[in-house]
Amino acid sequence: MQALRLTGKEQFELVEQELPVPEDHEIAVRVAATAICRTDAKMWRSGHRDLVMPRVLGHEVCGTIDEAPGRLFAVWPGSACGSCSACRSGRENLCPEMQITGFHRDGGFAERLIAPRSSLVEVPKGIDASLATLAEPLACAIHGVKQISVRRADRVLIYGAGTLGILLAVAAINRGASVLMTDPDAEKLAKSAAFRSRYAIETDEENADRLFDIVFNATSSAEAFESGIRHLEAGGRFCHFSGLGSAPVHPGTIFSELHYRELELAGSYGCTRPDMRDALRLLARYGHDLGFLIERTIRLEDAPSAMETILAGKDFRQVIEFK
Ligand SMILES: [Zn+2]
Ligand SMILES: [Zn+2]
Repeated sequence: MQALRLTGKEQFELVEQELPVPEDHEIAVRVAATAICRTDAKMWRSGHRDLVMPRVLGHEVCGTIDEAPGRLFAVWPGSACGSCSACRSGRENLCPEMQITGFHRDGGFAERLIAPRSSLVEVPKGIDASLATLAEPLACAIHGVKQISVRRADRVLIYGAGTLGILLAVAAINRGASVLMTDPDAEKLAKSAAFRSRYAIETDEENADRLFDIVFNATSSAEAFESGIRHLEAGGRFCHFSGLGSAPVHPGTIFSELHYRELELAGSYGCTRPDMRDALRLLARYGHDLGFLIERTIRLEDAPSAMETILAGKDFRQVIEFK
């Protein structure tokens, strides 16, 4: 089968390689589509804490299995031990033995991959393969919304109008919250105008000084982190959803804000299988309005030349489709 391997920083190699024989608990998946996310482009540029090279990247994957023709499955990109305290308490994304597809295990930049059987989640009819690749990032957004307990009538502020910002908005709106999004890139913000008007999502021009019950940072900017803390109501909740590219300038001030105004801070990293199932239910409900997030479909061999653009963060998703 054809596979695109990352062999070093900024070095992809298109190779013919054998698919390993699946173990008893595993299954071979014929990849139908794999989305390229900014994390993939970052790994291509500079590696990642959890990346072991050489590696076939790709963690936003859906595909088919030979034993169930005609059915499509999204792949939860995790493989957890199932017996540690994190796994037993439903926090399998925090399993210390976690093996992430596309990081520790070969992923979807290939015609086939091996996944644990228990990681497959069936895609409802009517959702095509490209759209189904949104299941994983939407599951991460749903995870964040659960971590910070978004409730009906909460006023939510989201920093970052990229794919994850939009999917966080979907997950929050689904719980009855109202959403305002902000992004310094007006062009990027403009690309979601139709979607935002359909779901009454405001942008920051209207209300820069308002306070919110909940803030998500879906950008790696330390400024957004600080600004988000300042935009919380007393007793408000902050979901730290993206890793920061640089350290906040005034960390002491931030912690004082937590103290004096009784703010709550929650982290969110990755997603669990129940989050994936929830994501597919939400895709069935909102998917017809999310097609704009799939900006381009490309062939496997074109993926290396897409990395620079994806790293720049201007686009929503580019998806590798396999025929
Ligand atoms: Zn991703
Ligand atoms: Zn575990």
